[in-house]
Amino acid sequence: MPLRVAIDDAVERAVRAFLAADTTRERGGFLVGRLAARTGDATEVRAFIACPDAPSTAVSLTFRAEEWQLVHAHGPVACGAAGIVGWVHSHPSMPVEMSGRDLFIQRHFFSDERQVAWIRDPVDGGEALWHWTDDGIARAERVAAEGAGP
Ligand SMILES: [Zn+2]
Repeated sequence: MPLRVAIDDAVERAVRAFLAADTTRERGGFLVGRLAARTGDATEVRAFIACPDAPSTAVSLTFRAEEWQLVHAHGPVACGAAGIVGWVHSHPSMPVEMSGRDLFIQRHFFSDERQVAWIRDPVDGGEALWHWTDDGIARAERVAAEGAGP
């Protein structure tokens, strides 16, 4: 069953603006919210921590100790408590597939299958959500945020 992910409108706007601010290189950050409590529930993304200083190139992004400290400042991820629920980064003018480096990050730092990797191409607007499963990487499904209109 694919993970369902609900992203707040304010986060959507903030992420789009941040990723589009520089399309010559990848940009990214962390997603804060609540993990799905049960199978069938949605992981909720409620805040975005931009990492403007994370070293990057046109085709890669690196989270250093400085960036991970932002994650630790938000505490451990637990059911029902706000915490890091995933990460987002741009693939300017590239397919929104998980690269080898992206897979490494997901497997080692976001391996809970309720945590999401959100990849967006700020140039053409393409995007995809991914999550780790027992069978490896798989697509997650975007659903409307609670309280959002039709
Ligand atoms: Zn990537």
